[in-house]
Amino acid sequence: MCGIFGISAHADAAALTHLGLYSLQHRGQESAGIVAVKDGAVNVLRAMGLVSDKFSAESMRTLSGPVAIGHTRYSTAGSSTIENAQPALVRFKGGHIALAHNGNLTNATEVRRQLEDQGSIFSSTMDSEVIVHRLARAQAERPEGKLAEALQGIEGAYSLLVIIGDTLVAARDPLGWRPLVMGRLNGAIVFASESCALDIVGATIEREVAPGEIVAVEPDGSVRTIQMSAPAEPRRCVFEYVYFARPDSRVFGGSVDRARRALGRRLAREHPAPGADFVFSVPDSSNSAALGFAEASDLPLELALIRNHYVGRTFIQPTQQGRDEKVKVKYNAVREILAGKSVVMVDDSIVRGTTTRGLVALVRAAGAREVHMRVSSPPITGPCYYGIDTPDREQLIAANHSVEEIARRIGVDSLGYISLDGMLGAVPDGPSGFCHACFSGQYPTKPPTVPEKLRLG
Ligand code: AMP
Repeated sequence: MCGIFGISAHADAAALTHLGLYSLQHRGQESAGIVAVKDGAVNVLRAMGLVSDKFSAESMRTLSGPVAIGHTRYSTAGSSTIENAQPALVRFKGGHIALAHNGNLTNATEVRRQLEDQGSIFSSTMDSEVIVHRLARAQAERPEGKLAEALQGIEGAYSLLVIIGDTLVAARDPLGWRPLVMGRLNGAIVFASESCALDIVGATIEREVAPGEIVAVEPDGSVRTIQMSAPAEPRRCVFEYVYFARPDSRVFGGSVDRARRALGRRLAREHPAPGADFVFSVPDSSNSAALGFAEASDLPLELALIRNHYVGRTFIQPTQQGRDEKVKVKYNAVREILAGKSVVMVDDSIVRGTTTRGLVALVRAAGAREVHMRVSSPPITGPCYYGIDTPDREQLIAANHSVEEIARRIGVDSLGYISLDGMLGAVPDGPSGFCHACFSGQYPTKPPTVPEKLRLG
């Protein structure tokens, strides 16, 4: 998964992009980058690691100009290299192109092969690079026309921010998998994956970029938009509401906090926990769902697990032993709260089951008498090909085990997942118009032929 931010028609474009990326750090902690353009001159900073560690206000001075885009990247550990850090930047005879992408293309391998057959040389393993090559060849006159031409035949998920010359171009795939919001800051136009990044720079939300829409912004703040394809039923990623986005954000036009509380309330109705003493969340991603669960079941909410904030989502380890240790480094249980109690532990999802098993062991070691686990998304039974880094099917605990077996494996007294209909009915603007392939197996496109090689985020 990734976070993207872009701004045009502002004298401090790079400095504001830097700020915006702080608010999108949860969407990717592996690498970050910023590109800025001034009078045809383009400058870039890219680094492995966190925005706060790698970029300073001082370093932003090398990135002057009224137009800038930025990116935070998350992928699996193995494919984490500086070559794959974004924004991608190329110089060619027509000028320069910079591109920041959130999502996963599902036919990038085929498109890349075609381009390689025609002589293209690639410098990364990113799926997004095919769009850059296509853009460099596009014949259309205007930047938005070039991007529409480049995206023809490209399948899968993309929210894109591109700089062509000094025009900032934003685009969302026709099914609208990943969010992209447009805002205003005085005369400047701002785009971001989530509205929390507009808040930090003081911009106000104008609207979502529509599925299939391309918006071009000139450095004077003038805006043109075109629609790539006739509107289709969207396939917004429901997991953005469940886990990925920040609760203080609005994505897809809805509040993430409201969505998660509604999921928690619905979960409490579907799987009550009578007789429990209290509810607690696995911080931070399930805080709002746990609040909703506690409210609907009339139980107190306690802070029984404390999370170490110096350990991020990057701490996910490639080995099983590493993952087990990770749980202890990342969380600790509060004995004074848990000892002798029957408790409800709310989490947003169970992926491999490793975190959950470790957490249940921690909670039991702290003296909990009974542990009832409630999950605010349905069992994850298939991988995501559209930008969420879920592992292959073999590693997904719910792809291979029944709910009863999972309960036994993770060591809980009872386990309840929200139903698919319950989840889709609880999120804003549901129940239709969402992608829920990882839960339902209903993939809106055919799966990519070589998904693991080109996984990007
Ligand atoms: P596990 O079941 O051990 O794989 O981990 C489940 C935990 O990981 C839950 O607490 C989720 O909040 C979190 N989680 C869910 N999806 C992802 C993801 N794509 N990347 C990282 N963490 C995730």
